[in-house]
Amino acid sequence: MRRPLMSSRLEGFTSTIFAEMSALAVQTGSINLGQGFPDVDGPALVRDAAKAAIDAGANQYPPGPGVPSLLAAVAEHQTRFYGLEPDPSTEVLITTGATEAIAAAMLGLLEPGDEVVVLEPYYDSYAATISMAGATRRPVTLQAPHFALPREQLATAITDRTRLILLNTPHNPTGAVLGAEDLRYVADLAIAHDLLVVTDEVYEHMLYDGLAHVPIATLPGMWERTLTISSAGKTFALTGWKIGWCTGPADLVAAVRAAKQFLTYVSGAPFQPAIAEGLAMPRSFFESIASDLQRKRDRLRAGLENAGFAVNECRGTYFLSADARSVGYEDGLGLCRDLPERCGVVAVPMSVFYDNVEYGQHLVRFAFCKKDDVLDEAGERLASLAR
Ligand code: PMP
Ligand code: GLN
Repeated sequence: MRRPLMSSRLEGFTSTIFAEMSALAVQTGSINLGQGFPDVDGPALVRDAAKAAIDAGANQYPPGPGVPSLLAAVAEHQTRFYGLEPDPSTEVLITTGATEAIAAAMLGLLEPGDEVVVLEPYYDSYAATISMAGATRRPVTLQAPHFALPREQLATAITDRTRLILLNTPHNPTGAVLGAEDLRYVADLAIAHDLLVVTDEVYEHMLYDGLAHVPIATLPGMWERTLTISSAGKTFALTGWKIGWCTGPADLVAAVRAAKQFLTYVSGAPFQPAIAEGLAMPRSFFESIASDLQRKRDRLRAGLENAGFAVNECRGTYFLSADARSVGYEDGLGLCRDLPERCGVVAVPMSVFYDNVEYGQHLVRFAFCKKDDVLDEAGERLASLAR
């Protein structure tokens, strides 16, 4: 018998829920609160810098690890906000979005048979890239409505095959933020078991209610075992530019760079100097990201609650999660299938981000990185669920 064409490593990963839901939104003319992307363009200063870079000839392959101005700007950003001092020439790597940094980290750091402890619900590319590396995920579930870190479950998920802990804070899709004590707990485990930590911090400038982002790499004993990933997409509302980066000790970054050079080789030449300018913007710019989005979170929360939803805690990111059962649906997938027809709104069923589906079956995710009038209109449309 002919064997399947597609590698078993990609089994179950043929389409992403985000693309599916965005297509559904376009097809039905619905408001798209599914895929997390802003409906405004990023800062004019950054966009103009990219245009200028194109006109100035930044159109051929840039250096593989990244253009020097962006490598320096990422290092300076880590110093300015967190007191970390990565060496731009060996401890920073520019990637094609955080997505590539995640993939290159899994491919560059894992052996087949290794286990990765990952917070569940997890961003979909974690599961896919762990599988591509021939490794196995060990999910640890954050449970609604508070999505607290289950410390004992985390400790017992570690086995003698565990190679790394994959963190994400602020956390997509729950909006949870790991606090200082959680991070210390994870750090102690990583040190005790001599594990690597890969931490996805793409929402680092999107924490609410006065919370401050703490990279786990800043904790004592952690720099030397941590790869920190972030990206320009969220911070500058330029998700289509696909400029990301990772920082960490030279040997970890070198492993990721080895994989990166055969995935994309290099990343977008004219976008890199433009993002370097963005990263040098004053602190007030970065603070305004969180204050704007906190207001939007509250606006969408009010709309969802008015429509009858029980809405879960959210301390960061672009996303609110809500309980489908509160509006008469047993599961989130059923609700998300009906929502475009019933209300003209698209959301994402969270069950796709779980192995232990029973914890996420009833949850749906709504993105609030949208214009105020779009959020209000979505709230009005959803209110028909309550009638
Ligand atoms: N990690 C998380 C948690 C995300 O939500 C996203 C997507 N928005 C990414 C990584 C991918 O980021 P990028 O668009 O920079 O590839
Ligand atoms: N990160 C975005 C989200 O969670 C979308 C990214 C994607 O489409 N892969 O909605």
